[in-house]
Amino acid sequence: MNQSDSILTQSPQALTQQLADWGIPSWRTKQIQEWIFHHRAVSFEACANLPKTLREKLSSHYKFYSAPLLCVTGHEGETRKFLWKLCDGNLIESVLIPAPAANTGHTSSNSEENRNTLCISTQVGCACGCKFCASGRSGFIRNLAPEEIIDQLLGAERWNPHQNKRLIHNLVIMGMGEPLANYENLMKALSIMNAEWGANIGARKITISTSGLAPKIRRLAAEEAQYRLSISLHAATDAVRSLIMPINRKYPLKELLDACEAYQQTKGRMISFEYILIDRLNDTPSQCQGLIRIAHRFHAHINLIPYNPVEGCDFKRPPQETIRKFTSELLAGGISATLRQEKGGNIDAACGQLRLRKMKDLSEK
Ligand code: SAH
Ligand code: SF4
Repeated sequence: MNQSDSILTQSPQALTQQLADWGIPSWRTKQIQEWIFHHRAVSFEACANLPKTLREKLSSHYKFYSAPLLCVTGHEGETRKFLWKLCDGNLIESVLIPAPAANTGHTSSNSEENRNTLCISTQVGCACGCKFCASGRSGFIRNLAPEEIIDQLLGAERWNPHQNKRLIHNLVIMGMGEPLANYENLMKALSIMNAEWGANIGARKITISTSGLAPKIRRLAAEEAQYRLSISLHAATDAVRSLIMPINRKYPLKELLDACEAYQQTKGRMISFEYILIDRLNDTPSQCQGLIRIAHRFHAHINLIPYNPVEGCDFKRPPQETIRKFTSELLAGGISATLRQEKGGNIDAACGQLRLRKMKDLSEK
C-alpha cells in the first residue's frame, strides 16, 4: 500500500486491479473515475453512490488531491487568472483565455470559436532564467507532480460558473515553468487529460510551448500522441537570443531548429513560433528578415506578443508603429502571423506575475 498515490493518476487497469484485490467488482472503476473527471469531486466522501466501506478503503489508500483556489482575477469574457495554493504552500497560476480563441493566437481555425483555453503551469518557478519573464526571474523551486498539473484543469472546471456546460476545450502548456524540463510528469498528466476515461481533451487541442530544449523536442517526436508544439523563439539570431534566453547558449538556434525539423518530419505536424516584441532588441528589420527565413523553412505560423512589462525588468514594449511595421513586414514576406494584443496587461497577464505580486503581498503581511 502506497498512501502517496494520487487517485487522479490511476489508470483504469491499475484501479481495477486494486479493487479486485479488495474483492470489489471492476464496474466500480468507471464510477470512481466519473466522480473525479466528470463530477469533479474533491474528496471520496463526496462520491455519494459509493458504499461507505469502499470510500474508507479508497481514502486510506489514495490521496485525493485538490489545491485550494486563493484568488481569481478578471471579469466575465476577459482573461482570468487563477492562483492555486499547493500542499507545500507554493503558489502556481493558470490562465483562462476566453473565446473567441482566434483573438489569442493559440488556435487557428474559426471552428474553434466559443472555445475557452486554459493555460497551465508545469513547475513552481523556472530554471531557464529568460530575462523578460517573471517566472524565470524568481528562480526554480520544484517540478509539479502529474496530479498538480491535472488538478489545474479540474479546479478551473470546478470554478466554472456555468456548471451545465464544459468550460475548457483547449489546453496550452504555457504557464509557469518549462514543460519539457518536467517531461515525465507532463507526459503522464497529458495522457490522463487526453484519455477518454480522463478529462477527454483531444491531443490536437493541447499545445506544448517550450523555450527550446532540443533533445526533449526529439523525444517528444517519438511519442505516439499528436500534441501541438509551439517554440518560444523571441529572436532570429544567436547573438540576440542568447542575450535574453540563457537556454540558447546550451541549445543554439541551429540545434533547436534541426530538432524542430526532425519533429516536423516525424510527426508530419506544423510547429508554431512565439515571438515577444521587445523595444530595440528583437524588433529590428534585420531580426524580422531572419524570422521570415525561419518561418519559411517550417511553413510556420508566428504568434507575435508585445512584451508585457515585468517589475524589475528594464525592457520596454516597442511603440505601436514599430509593432505594426514588424507585423506587416512579416505578412509581406508571405508569413502567416497573428498579433496577440494581451487584454490582461493590468491583471498581471504575463506568466508568473500574479504569483510574484501575491508572494510579495503575503510577505508584507
Ligand atoms: N517555458 C515555456 C512555457 C511557459 S512561458 C516557454 O518559454 O515557452 C509561456 C510564454 O509566455 C512564452 O512564450 C514566454 O516567452 C511568454 N512570456 C514570458 N514572459 C513574458 C512577458 N513579460 N511578456 C510577454 N510574454 C511573456
Ligand atoms: Fe521559463 Fe518559459 Fe519563463 Fe523562459 S519564458 S523563464 S522558459 S517559463
